[in-house]
Amino acid sequence: MKRREFCRSTLAASIAAAYPFMANAALADSSVAAVSLDGSEIELEKASIRELAEQLNGPLLMPGDTQYDYARRVWNGMHDRHPALIARCAGNDDVRHAVTFAAERDLLLSVRGGGHSWPGKSVCDGGLMIDLAEMNTVTADPDTQRANAQGGALLNGLDTAALNYGLITTAGVVSHTGVGGFTLGGGFGRLNRKYGLTIDNLVSAELVTADGQIRTVSAEQEPDLFWAIRGGGGNFGVATRFEYQLHPFDRNVLSGMIAWPIDQAREVLDFYGGWYSGLSDDLYVGPVMLTTPDGVSMVVMEVVYAGDPVAGEKELEPLRKIGKPLEDGVTLQDYMVMQTHEDGTWAHGVRSYAKNGMVREITSPLIDAMIESFVPDPRLAFFTHTAGGAVMRVGEMDTAFPHRNAETMIAVAGGWMDPAQDAEAIAMARAWFKQLEPFIGGYYDNIDFDGANSKGGNYGPAFERLSAIKGQYDPGNLFRLNRNIQPAT
Ligand SMILES: Cc1cc2nc3c(=O)[nH]c(=O)nc-3n(C[C@H](O)[C@H](O)[C@H](O)COP(=O)(O)OP(=O)(O)OC[C@H]3O[C@@H](n4cnc5c(N)ncnc54)[C@H](O)[C@@H]3O)c2cc1C
Repeated sequence: MKRREFCRSTLAASIAAAYPFMANAALADSSVAAVSLDGSEIELEKASIRELAEQLNGPLLMPGDTQYDYARRVWNGMHDRHPALIARCAGNDDVRHAVTFAAERDLLLSVRGGGHSWPGKSVCDGGLMIDLAEMNTVTADPDTQRANAQGGALLNGLDTAALNYGLITTAGVVSHTGVGGFTLGGGFGRLNRKYGLTIDNLVSAELVTADGQIRTVSAEQEPDLFWAIRGGGGNFGVATRFEYQLHPFDRNVLSGMIAWPIDQAREVLDFYGGWYSGLSDDLYVGPVMLTTPDGVSMVVMEVVYAGDPVAGEKELEPLRKIGKPLEDGVTLQDYMVMQTHEDGTWAHGVRSYAKNGMVREITSPLIDAMIESFVPDPRLAFFTHTAGGAVMRVGEMDTAFPHRNAETMIAVAGGWMDPAQDAEAIAMARAWFKQLEPFIGGYYDNIDFDGANSKGGNYGPAFERLSAIKGQYDPGNLFRLNRNIQPAT
């Protein structure tokens, strides 16, 4: 009750601070300027904003509110957008009210899970931002071996809740990434060869759709929608809860990095190209090429062996005999060491660009291109997500992520802090990736700044069905700030 009163009492002041040119009008029962779905200007009645604030259990923020600037910030420092309203949702009903408010007014809507979208799709200018940051609880059940994560939870929460019971599922490599966008897009991680992508471990989800309904989707309930959210991104509604299958797991894993000087890249990558496709599902190993801040360029193999460490040592032996590594840090250690070791490199606020593609196999011409295209700049890196194994055993159209025959995802990504470097760093990353582009056969939406054509490379054969399901559940394309799928009419 107190919170609601707070929201109401701060509303007029917020409007005044946000739109000083209309402060008096705002205080005198006027309206607030906002942006509609098609980008045109609309007016939001102050009374309707007050009504929404009263419906919500979490705060409704406007420019000028103390939490507003904090809440509108997303991970990639390149995006500085100002929503007209931010609904910091406290539960499903808040999400439902916020979705309905936007739908009834054709108001531009963005949905923020963990805020890690490279193109910053989770924050909008002039619209309503549904912010799930406070809906971040994860619980794991050792009896059912399932985890439930709220839509705004982070990967760290998912990993740690599961590990508490000696369980795990596939999660990504930077622990402050959100489960929301990550899961809906597919979910690559260091256990995907053994357990599949994160979507392959999704048992059910709770979704607030454009009509304001809260739906539970699973293989049995609304199976079309369940299919679509496993790869189709945020196009179909706001996911307020994900239920994941967990697997028994010893958190003490053989893992770490082996690094060689870049002049040994040929030897290392030639070996890797002939070796990796016969590996067991337990072994995740993939190349990274980077330059340290003090200017040392290297090729690095990231290793996680999700099985008996003795068998792991044996399987890794041939790799460890290649060349003269600068360092071999593969050792028996807690799984979370690897799951968090990149958190600082990719810290909040970094200005970042990324581009990726799915490759069927690592061939000699691709290795040539990897070596020849390498840019020795500490701001940029080449990395991979090794797939194959369980990822490949799922049928192309079993989920909305169709790139199942790709052994590897390759990517170029960069991070820097100075806005003056944006143009140069992005141009370098694009030029680097262009040389790798001839080898790719599709894109993974989640690791991409520019956005591929949703009709072409990224959804591939899944597009038509996705578009039909979008037409059924979101014909007005309310959920459009994502890698958008046009609804079929
Ligand atoms: C540093 C870093 C590391 C990464 N590592 C990996 C990795 O190892 N493996 C991998 O596969 N990907 C990785 N990614 C990509 C990541 O999966 C995407 O950036 C993903 O969109 C992040 O999800 P989020 O919830 O944090 O993003 P947000 O910016 O909050 O959302 C991204 C998109 O998803 C939608 N969305 C988010 N949450 C919900 C929800 N609950 N309901 C409905 N729609 C929602 C948003 O509307 C938006 O369109 C990484 C990204 C970064 C920045």
